[in-house]
Amino acid sequence: MASKVTEEYGSLVFSDSVMRERLPKPTYKELSRVIKEGKALNLAIANEVAHAMKEWALEKGATHYTHWFQPLTGITSEKHDAFMEPTGDGRALETFSGKALIQGEPDASSFPSGGLRATFEARGYTAWDPTSPAFIKDEVLCVPTAFISYTGEALDKKTPLLRSCVALDGQAKRVLKLFGKDIKSVTTTVGPEQEYFLIKEEDYAARPDLIMCGRTLFGCEPVKGQELEEHYFGAIRPTVNEFMKELDDELWKLAVPAKTKHNEVAPCQHELAPIFETSSKAIDHNLVTMEKMKIIASHHGLTCLQHEKPFDYVNGSGKHNNWSISADGKNLLDPSDTPEDNLQFLVFLSSVIAAVDDYQDLMRASVASAGNDHRLGANEAPPAIVSIFLGDDLAAVVDALINDKPYSSHPREKMDLGVPQLADLTKDSTDRNRTSPFAFTGNKFEFRMCGSQQNLSDPNMVLNTAVAEQLDRFATDMADVAECDFIVKALEWVKATLTAHQRIIFNGNGYSDEWPAEAEKRGLLNMRTAPDALPCLIDKKNLDLFEKYHVASPDEMHARYVSKAEQYAKLLNIEANTMVYMTKHMYLPALFDYSGDIATTVATKAELGIAAKAEKALVQTLTDAIDKITDLVADLEQKNAAAQSLDDPTEQDNAYRDSVIPAMDALRVSVDEMEKVCGHDYWPVPSYNRILFYV
Ligand code: ADP
Ligand code: MG
Repeated sequence: MASKVTEEYGSLVFSDSVMRERLPKPTYKELSRVIKEGKALNLAIANEVAHAMKEWALEKGATHYTHWFQPLTGITSEKHDAFMEPTGDGRALETFSGKALIQGEPDASSFPSGGLRATFEARGYTAWDPTSPAFIKDEVLCVPTAFISYTGEALDKKTPLLRSCVALDGQAKRVLKLFGKDIKSVTTTVGPEQEYFLIKEEDYAARPDLIMCGRTLFGCEPVKGQELEEHYFGAIRPTVNEFMKELDDELWKLAVPAKTKHNEVAPCQHELAPIFETSSKAIDHNLVTMEKMKIIASHHGLTCLQHEKPFDYVNGSGKHNNWSISADGKNLLDPSDTPEDNLQFLVFLSSVIAAVDDYQDLMRASVASAGNDHRLGANEAPPAIVSIFLGDDLAAVVDALINDKPYSSHPREKMDLGVPQLADLTKDSTDRNRTSPFAFTGNKFEFRMCGSQQNLSDPNMVLNTAVAEQLDRFATDMADVAECDFIVKALEWVKATLTAHQRIIFNGNGYSDEWPAEAEKRGLLNMRTAPDALPCLIDKKNLDLFEKYHVASPDEMHARYVSKAEQYAKLLNIEANTMVYMTKHMYLPALFDYSGDIATTVATKAELGIAAKAEKALVQTLTDAIDKITDLVADLEQKNAAAQSLDDPTEQDNAYRDSVIPAMDALRVSVDEMEKVCGHDYWPVPSYNRILFYV
């Protein structure tokens, strides 16, 4: 009997097997070449595919189709069109043409463009990305697309990512050719581990900060935090388990290979890890996953928080971007048993090391956001300094190469567990280092700085392009080398590259106090905040990189910078406004009530001749705090207004970082102090204690 999984997996996806079954053979062959080898698409093929797609979608109950895309907001957008087409005689047919499949024209004027597209020429169009399969979501056929302006500039996250994949494919093939390999296609693979929180819907609904900003802007320390380490990998509570089961079912229908689920470190925090896929598909799937998490949580009376820092005092959420390069399906970052002999592996490894060192700034900027600023460098996530962890084995290989030392490989140790019933385990050649931002984990790198709510296209676009540049350098340097000298010259290249970039390799503890000082000595960058990091998106060297590999033009990069800088200021403006609102309309009135009631008690007791010393002191404390909080709110309002009045996005971000955020912090401290003083029944929002532990 077929299991539920085998029956339902991918049932809502217009997958390769569906295409093979439903398309005429020559059409299927042609489309496969478009998908697998990047060949251009023609309208005749598109018409046949569109027809088959429509028939399939109708059978599955779909009524509409949409071009599904990823504007610069990072989330996904869709506008639904019915297949229905009136015939003119009072009846209607269902149609979906090749043209409608290939190209769509959403009204682009309301999406952020970073100034690329003035509203008077608001036309943008969406173009089918055949490398990511169409799927059905809520009776709508979703066609993954790229979103570009009328003049051909990327208005989305996907287009530059796809271009960076093309750049890497081209350069990697040149390198592999030198190793005697004719490869059809080189792709990058991504496995994103998604962290998130689940809290009760009623608690969420009672907190304007969670509703408006996705994170708590106030809240005193809970009496208990994560110090007992009981939540990580702990038994999953039943409501959450029901949520996870439904999520898996829905994701599997969409062929999202959701594999692992567990509790994370913070109370109410969880993680989902899928099996890796080619990068564009993996990122599409991650976005669908995030959307489904939010919807499905509501079926269970829960709300899914995907912000990087929903709560102070406990860990925030990240999204680890596991990344590798694959040549016709073979992992190029797999060192095999004797890494020291594996020249091709070393060329790719040293290219990645050099790329990350040369573009530390871009790597940091690619994960920079107001939300992620609360995580990076906060001893729960990697520091804001980019460095690479290689693990003992590889570090020894690199050391031997740089210093011309013999490398003594120790065959993988077996761990004797001392219990005959338990099988001997082979010790993983890389130990786990949770503090490194960019860690080699056996046969892939794990970029750990990414934020939980971010679209992973940005970091992958940077990584792919920077690595493409190094591979280009290798292929170019080796172009005139005689075949008999190749091994020697290639090894020399590896040695020179590793020597030039060894400063980026750090196998120690990234949370230690010594590391920032040591990193500074090494000349590594430490950009603590998003406003520090974002402007490097438009540094000349970085504009040159993206232009050279046709990934993004200087105009496109400027637009991306402006859009991210604006996003930062907009988010902080919303946070500041929310704080002002909550203070004026919720916290101060609560303090008025509480202090008023106690003052009445004091007066009543005084009539009876009772001193009521403690109550009197409390009224004084509350009244002083009311005055202080009133001043702090006024100060925040004034500083936010000043920041809002600035036109230049860089200046505006700096004003938020240097003036508004400190005012927000000061207000929070004073309000949180009063949460500890104020009567429970008077406090207008659920506390951290309640949200995180009364589950
Ligand atoms: P952890 O980091 O929690 O120890 P794992 O080592 O199991 O987790 O893997 C984490 C993620 O790495 C998974 O999503 C997995 O699919 C992904 N992964 C494994 N191999 C590759 C690869 N070659 N390319 C990209 N991602 C990969
Ligand atoms: Mg991980």
